[in-house]
Amino acid sequence: MAEEKYYCYICGDEITDKNSTDEHIILNALGGHLHSYTVICKDCNTKMGETADAKLAEDLSFFTDFLGVKKNRQHDHNQVMTDDEGHEIVVDGGGRNLTLRRPYVENKEKDGVREIKMAVRNKKELDGFLKGMVKRNELTQAQADEILAKAKVTEHHSPLKTRTVISEEAFPSIIKSAANYYVDQTHDISTVKALVPYIEGKGDCKDVLYLHHFKTLPYPEIKGQVTHMIHIEGSAKTGLLYAMMEYYSIYVYMVVIDRNYNGQDINMTYTYDVVAGQEVDRTFTLSLTMKELDDFRNQPYDEYVKYLPYVQKRADAVMAVWDEKLLHEELHEVIDKAFKKFPEGCVMTPDKMAVVQNDIMEYIEKKIERSFNLKEGK
Ligand SMILES: [Zn+2]
Repeated sequence: MAEEKYYCYICGDEITDKNSTDEHIILNALGGHLHSYTVICKDCNTKMGETADAKLAEDLSFFTDFLGVKKNRQHDHNQVMTDDEGHEIVVDGGGRNLTLRRPYVENKEKDGVREIKMAVRNKKELDGFLKGMVKRNELTQAQADEILAKAKVTEHHSPLKTRTVISEEAFPSIIKSAANYYVDQTHDISTVKALVPYIEGKGDCKDVLYLHHFKTLPYPEIKGQVTHMIHIEGSAKTGLLYAMMEYYSIYVYMVVIDRNYNGQDINMTYTYDVVAGQEVDRTFTLSLTMKELDDFRNQPYDEYVKYLPYVQKRADAVMAVWDEKLLHEELHEVIDKAFKKFPEGCVMTPDKMAVVQNDIMEYIEKKIERSFNLKEGK
C-alpha cells in the first residue's frame, strides 16, 4: 500500500519530514492538547495568525488563569473586572486577591442632603478623602471622625462580571482551529481553501464566523466540566458544512466551511475538559441550516438579549468550578499549616488533633460567614 500523502491546507505544499511541524489544533495557550503534524507546513505555521492567536489567548486568559489551565507564572497577569457597582477590581493571577483598582468617591448634594459614597482600599485613603472634605467644608471634623471610627474593612466579594464575547482580532484564530480539525480528520484540503484568506487576515471574518448562543446546550451538561470543543457537521440535505467552536463552555462560534455542501454526511466532535485535563466523549447532532445561522445573527437586539442570561448562567457555573477549586486548595493549605505546628514525625495525640481540627473549623466558619454575607449582599 502506498504511503498516504499530506498537503498543507494553506499553501498546498506536500508535508514531508523536512517541513512538518507540530500544530496545536486548539491553541496551546488555552490548554489545547490535540496536535497534528499533517495539516500545515512549517513555513505557514510560522507565518500564520500569530497576532490572532495571541489575541484569542488574551481574551480568554481570565478563565485560563483562574482554572489553572496553563500554569505559567511568567504569564500570570492581573485581570481587571467590574463588580456590581461598576467599580474596577484587580484580580491577581491565582484569583485569590481581589482589590479595588482605585478608590471611588461619589459626592453629591440632592434636596439639601449630601450623599457620599466611597469605596477605598484602606483607612489611610479614607482619611485622606475625609480631610479634603473637611477642608472644603463638606463635612465637619466631628462627622469625619465619626465616619473614620465607624469604617469597617470588608473583603470584596460582589459578583464579578465576565465578558462573553471575543474580540474581532481573534477571529482568524478560531477559523484556523476549525480548519485544523477538519483537515486533520479528513485530509481534504480543497474544502477549507475558502477559509484561508480569513485565517491570513485578508477577509472579513463575519462572512464565515457566526457568534451563537444556546438557551439549552445541544449536549448534556455535566456539573464541574469546563470544555473546549470542536464539532463539525455537514450534510447534503442541509447543504451546509460548519464547525461549532466552543471555548470554556461559554463562548460559542459557528464557522461556515462550505455553504453549498453536497458531500457525504459528516459528524465529528473533539471535546477537551480543561479542568480534568482530559478528552471526553460527546456526540450530538445540530442539523443547523444556513438560514438558521443567518436568522440568529439578524434577529432584533431585544430577541438576541434573551439568550444572554443563559450564557451568564453558564459563565457563573464555570466561576463556581473555580471557587470550588480554590476552596480545595485553601483547605489543603489550612490542614498543611495546622500539621506543621508540630515537629515532623511526632505522635499526634488527641490534644494535637484538636488543634488541627480547630484550625479547620475556624476556616470553615469563615467560609460560611462569607457565603451568608454574599447571599445578603453585604
Ligand atoms: Zn504551507
